[in-house]
Amino acid sequence: MVKITIIGASGTIGKNVAFKLAKEDQIHEIVLFSRKTSNERVKGEIRDMYDALSADNIDVTLTPSYDYEDIRGSEIVLITSGTPRKQGMSRLDLAVPNAKIIEEYARNIAVYAPDCIILIVTNPVDVMTTIALEASGFDKSRVIGLGNHLDSLRLKTMLAKHYNINSGEIHTRVIGEHGDHMVPLLSSTTIGGIPLKYFVEDSDLDIHDLVKSVKSAGNKIISKKGATEYGPAYAISNLIATIVNDSHKILSVSTYLEGEVEGVYDVSLGVPVILCKRGVQTIVPVKMAEDEKLDFFEAARAVKRCTYKIKDVLEL
Ligand code: NAP
Repeated sequence: MVKITIIGASGTIGKNVAFKLAKEDQIHEIVLFSRKTSNERVKGEIRDMYDALSADNIDVTLTPSYDYEDIRGSEIVLITSGTPRKQGMSRLDLAVPNAKIIEEYARNIAVYAPDCIILIVTNPVDVMTTIALEASGFDKSRVIGLGNHLDSLRLKTMLAKHYNINSGEIHTRVIGEHGDHMVPLLSSTTIGGIPLKYFVEDSDLDIHDLVKSVKSAGNKIISKKGATEYGPAYAISNLIATIVNDSHKILSVSTYLEGEVEGVYDVSLGVPVILCKRGVQTIVPVKMAEDEKLDFFEAARAVKRCTYKIKDVLEL
């Protein structure tokens, strides 16, 4: 039986993930951790969730908390706290205030849940992954960020809709930054096992349009409804279910690189990893087309620049 903690639980992503994870068989307790000022709101969310879960005969313990003692024994601690991105705002604009929040939470997690895996959602997620890694002092296999898995799901959906094919037939992947410098890996995309470049020979698929749409997908949702919620919540749930069930799936997560992919080092970026109960088992040294490689290097430069700036401010 598994215990999970969600920090920033009163937020849009936090509460949606909690409700989704409550339905996972292996998870017996979810701590919905928030600032003290949000505790009453979290209690209200929990009562509402219990009513819904009861309709499905699901018994799980949902614990509202602002006391770090309650996170002890958590296998995974998810951090979703931070200022949400407003329309037109880049994820990098959020970096300084959010880095301070992440630093403080990561230090406390290291004290109260020293054996857990930290999963970062707060943007800019690739920068925040490095901040959490350094502040916690954990091995890099146990500090990961969500970003490119969500981008990969968006790309998968767009391809499935374009061809009117079951999305299970599409295997695709986005790597790099969860942001403007994301790199859709079209060279490793297959549909029904057929490489995309052969599949689209007679098609009207506009690859440039597709890539633009994936990059702007988050902003488009925010411009229409103010926030993204179901997509991130389900993407997070994929990662957590893979870890909890020790599934060894290959998923794109942000992880600190030391030369494993195209020699890129000293920066956290989304890359394919084999994910298991211990966190990242292996970083997959994926090969890319020449233009993808250049974009990946550009992503590394951009995220590294921002990470260094933030570390200077935080004196890390
Ligand atoms: P939200 O609804 O505004 O929730 C954010 C939560 O952060 C708040 O409910 C609050 O939680 C906490 N918080 C706010 N200000 C804080 C402060 N000064 N100190 C400590 N905690 C504070 O935002 P959201 O839509 O859930 O998004 C959360 C984060 O995830 C954002 O950074 C967003 O950009 C990011 N995001 C990432 C992805 C991805 O793929 N990586 C996708 C979507 C969103 P409590 O009061 O409960 O503590």
